Amino acid sequence: MYDLVVIGAGPGGYVCAIRAAQLGLKVACVEGRESLGGTCLNVGCIPSKALLHASHLYHEATHNFAKLGITGEAPGIDWEKMQGYKAETVGGNTKGIEFLFKKNKIDWLKGWASIPEAGKVKVGDEVHEAKAIVIASGSVPSALKGVEVDNDAGVVVDSTGALALRKIPESMVVIGAGVIGLELGSVYARLGAKVRVLEYLDAVTPGMDAEVQKAFQRILAKQGLEFTLGAAVSGVEVKDGRATVSWAPAKGGEAQSAEADVVLVATGRRANTEGLGLDALGVETDRGVIVTGEQWQTNIPGIYAIGDVTKGPMLAHKAEDEGMAVAEVIAGRHGHVDYGVIPSVIYTMPEVAAIGLTEAAAKESGRKVKTGKFPLMGNARAKAMLEAEGFVKLVTDAETDRVLGCHIIGPGAGEIIHEVAVAMSFGAAAEDIALTCHAHPTVSEAVREAALACGDGAIHV
Ligand code: NAD
Repeated sequence: MYDLVVIGAGPGGYVCAIRAAQLGLKVACVEGRESLGGTCLNVGCIPSKALLHASHLYHEATHNFAKLGITGEAPGIDWEKMQGYKAETVGGNTKGIEFLFKKNKIDWLKGWASIPEAGKVKVGDEVHEAKAIVIASGSVPSALKGVEVDNDAGVVVDSTGALALRKIPESMVVIGAGVIGLELGSVYARLGAKVRVLEYLDAVTPGMDAEVQKAFQRILAKQGLEFTLGAAVSGVEVKDGRATVSWAPAKGGEAQSAEADVVLVATGRRANTEGLGLDALGVETDRGVIVTGEQWQTNIPGIYAIGDVTKGPMLAHKAEDEGMAVAEVIAGRHGHVDYGVIPSVIYTMPEVAAIGLTEAAAKESGRKVKTGKFPLMGNARAKAMLEAEGFVKLVTDAETDRVLGCHIIGPGAGEIIHEVAVAMSFGAAAEDIALTCHAHPTVSEAVREAALACGDGAIHV
């Protein structure tokens, strides 16, 4: 009998298993993939970051080195080797989780799990008893009507297929200007593909601050990505290894088409509950998402759910936090996640990072809102790096000066945002950030300047 069986070894599941084992519980984790780490480590965050890193350096070498006075023959691309580097990066990380499982005496139950009844988890022919079960089965790409994804054929692909194309396409159509579409679209644009993005809405990156959306689209367009907004894709046809995408203006108008070697379907992900037997068990779901209460409990006692399979942003670090917290709860301790302070990052160049409320959402909440914005054109470090296109924008409560949100476009935005995360966790005012000494010259100084702009004014503009 296990104290806890976790279903899924992604960032939510493996963190939950490790934390529970550290707290003295007897833990098993079920995972059907050949390696641990879930979507994030195997076919998501980690391999995409490897390709983003490699393609960024290639782009720098071919586009920006000359501006810095670095001359010489331009480097080429060995795609097989780049894929090998990506695989090594993934392997190193997944093996790391395997090591942590062994170190913490967690049993890896290899196979796909179902829950025949509360307190039991079936893996293959074996049934394991568990005092508590945590479902952390993640998400899968959602299907788009009229579009058949075939990752093996490599013409119409989802994010998994796009990470493993056999060759760099000459042309690519990306359906959906969300995080996946823009990160992977950037990779192939940097590697030389002509990339066109078709997006249903009137802006890129749904949910982001409107000023960030506009600036981000402009910056990516300068890098060569072509955007068609307000375009509803209705189907893709493949003929002789080439794809034709059918689309029409979302507000009505004539049907149009776009051709490409590869089409990336990046129109969102859905909770992965297939095969778990949730309906028979009576686990409450809402449009496929598992409904949970305050302590990540489902409506069935002893069964919990965390991460992408539940509500909230589909982010690895949100799942990790929930995994740690639910392990604490199951071990009889207190678990907490501050849902108002979860950063989100788009790992393009420049990076985009956001936390808390957008200006629009803060206004909708009925508060009096003040914003402070600082352009990186006024930041010496960003200028020296030739990466001064972005800005930092702080959203504050005009009455209390409390920081409600922060939105950054710029080099290292995904690192810089954590200063604001800590500030928000402590309920800081913009003035607290403004009075904190920041090292010079750093891009982080722009956060302080944005905080100063919430008061009497920034210094360097
Ligand atoms: P998304 O929801 O971020 O974006 C999908 C986009 O597709 C939307 O803008 C939507 O309007 C558009 N769309 C939908 N149907 C369309 C149609 N028929 N025609 C044209 N456009 C259409 O989804 P995603 O980019 O696939 O990402 C999935 C999830 O994975 C997200 O929750 C994301 O947060 C997560 N993710 C995060 C990261 C990161 O944090 N860096 C990276 C990858 C994925």
